Amino acid sequence: MNKIQMVDLKGQYEKIKDEINAGIQDVIDQTAFINGPKVKEFSEHLSQYLGGIHVVPCANGTDALQIALMALDLKSGDEIILPVHTYVATAEVIALLQLKPIFVDVHPDFFTIDVTQIENKISSKTKAIVPVHLYGQCADMETIMQMALKHKLFVIEDTAQAIGAKYTFSDGREVFAGTIGDIGTTSFFPSKNLGCFGDGGAMFVKNSEMANKCTMIANHGQSVKYQHDVVGCNSRLDTIQAAILDVKLKYLDDYCKARQDAASFYNELLKDVSRINTPKNYNKSTHVYHQYTLILDDSIDRTGLQNFLKEKGIPSMIYYPIPLHKQKAYKENNQWEQFPVTEKLSNTVLSIPIHTEITKSEQSFIVETIKSYLK
Ligand SMILES: *Cc1c(COP(=O)(O)O)cnc(C)c1O
Repeated sequence: MNKIQMVDLKGQYEKIKDEINAGIQDVIDQTAFINGPKVKEFSEHLSQYLGGIHVVPCANGTDALQIALMALDLKSGDEIILPVHTYVATAEVIALLQLKPIFVDVHPDFFTIDVTQIENKISSKTKAIVPVHLYGQCADMETIMQMALKHKLFVIEDTAQAIGAKYTFSDGREVFAGTIGDIGTTSFFPSKNLGCFGDGGAMFVKNSEMANKCTMIANHGQSVKYQHDVVGCNSRLDTIQAAILDVKLKYLDDYCKARQDAASFYNELLKDVSRINTPKNYNKSTHVYHQYTLILDDSIDRTGLQNFLKEKGIPSMIYYPIPLHKQKAYKENNQWEQFPVTEKLSNTVLSIPIHTEITKSEQSFIVETIKSYLK
């Protein structure tokens, strides 16, 4: 058996090596390193995949969030609602732009923002909601969009972990994660479900005026060369990365399927383990299992289990061990607030390996090892 990894990028590459290498070689042959034709081609292909929404490429998923917020023309002190159980980037860009992150606890089963708690947090300064489609499934977007309409708020969907997931509205309409709000943002960090060989990111923008604005902000606020209309930044998707992504996009559906199959197999293997809860799939969203995240019963010593797995060559991760409201950088205004679900999750979640190359025998070995620890 190969060494078990959280994500097997080498194995995935081996299967499409010739196509990827040819794509990279083309960029080198053309010396089209910055804004080469592949950046546009990939953006167009991704736009087609997502149903025609404008795709604005940028340097990484954090920049995508930042540029999206910059495009909303907010004032310092404006409030942005987001889940407290998320990767730091979601909160970081808000604080960086002198906006105020307003944390909301998450749903105990689905790990996405608890929509029943959003309205309590809306004030006259609230300008946007940033739901995060955590671990690979969508937040309750229908309710979020209704609230946004009612309170005139923007919606930016952090889709870094859920590209390819689909959300179904109650009228039967099925759409891709990231294409529902005003702007969706994603990351092409290597371990993400559509990952490149370095950094990359993109915004999915409904309205063409807003898409032009995002494009302009990502390019030094420039409309025409050397004419700067707004304060922007320098955030480009590298052409070599675009060439790699253009190949991998063709396999995204297969990658989602492989992760879903692996998740079903884990569910099956773990179904009689009463002290472990397997991830629940929210019925309005497909799940693309960026992570397969277990909730351990309080009686399980998580550190002990992690060490035991490690001794047997099995990696595991905690996403995320310290909730954002308790982080030094973000606790000033929030440390006395109670987020009981997030606090419990931070102590009880454990993500085990899931990726496109994982085999049934690896999964069986992982689950047997977990079971032997619990005995
Ligand atoms: C990965 C990630 C980001 C940031 O993406 P980068 O490309 O690493 O900047 C933002 N939000 C979430 C939820 C993520 O998982």
